[in-house]
Amino acid sequence: MTHQHHSDTAGLRALIQKARQQGRTIGFVPTMGFLHRGHQSLIEACSQAGHYTVVSIFVNPAQFGPNEDLDTYPRNPEGDFQLSREAGADLVWYPEVHDLYPPGCQTMVTPGDLAKRLCGLSRPQFFGGICSVVLKFFNIIQPDATWFGEKDFQQLAIIRKMVSDFYLNIQVMGGELIREEDGLAMSSRNARIRPEDREPALTLYRTILNAQEAYRRGERDALKLARELKAAWPDCLELDYLDFREPVLLEPTNELKEDTRIFLGAWLNGVRLIDNARVAP
Ligand code: AMP
Repeated sequence: MTHQHHSDTAGLRALIQKARQQGRTIGFVPTMGFLHRGHQSLIEACSQAGHYTVVSIFVNPAQFGPNEDLDTYPRNPEGDFQLSREAGADLVWYPEVHDLYPPGCQTMVTPGDLAKRLCGLSRPQFFGGICSVVLKFFNIIQPDATWFGEKDFQQLAIIRKMVSDFYLNIQVMGGELIREEDGLAMSSRNARIRPEDREPALTLYRTILNAQEAYRRGERDALKLARELKAAWPDCLELDYLDFREPVLLEPTNELKEDTRIFLGAWLNGVRLIDNARVAP
């Protein structure tokens, strides 16, 4: 296990090259750090699949809008190293901004319609920033397989599309969404939820349970159910979107089917919350 604190892309490539020469396949788990069990589950899956497991810790400026939380995004590089190692990482890389965006760098990936819905509506540069940094990582690390969490289901769908549209020879794996005991979807940003805001933060998960219960009772009208769920939404939580979508291109759907997913995005005193699940659990 090597701890790469400095900006040494050549050193990183050499370590990966060495693993390859020893007959290892390469697995890659990109993260923005402040790791929790959700991240660890992806690292474990990658390592258990037998790959030499590379984890990146990088808060990517290109995916933050001007009024977003780039400067206050939680960080804990030492803790991240421990949690990565526990989960089976072979190499943890902490690139600096200039490693991935050196002076003069100007080319960005423009994802399609899939990136304009749900989270993309309120965050126009978000998925282009993600695709660009992920493509850079893919080209530096050249992984055989990569893991993304279903917590960010839209991101996973967009990465799958980019890999297919650009003929990248990388297996994209989805990891199940990991929740806290009380049902809140794990997120690095949860550290910024005030104790008194915990209860309203659970609205997203509660809404998912209500949607699943309605589906179980036989409700199949997506628009009607969305209207009802929005009517029960508390004022203290700013709703960004509540939508039922099909699971590949996340197109709107009027009829709830077994593989339809509910997607939720909200702001709670400036903290971004998202969640999603199948309506038929
Ligand atoms: P982030 O550090 O938020 O950019 O997340 C890095 C990776 O971890 C992404 O693929 C996320 O989807 C995944 N991830 C974050 N939170 C969770 C969670 N609660 N369950 C599963 N995967 C997660």
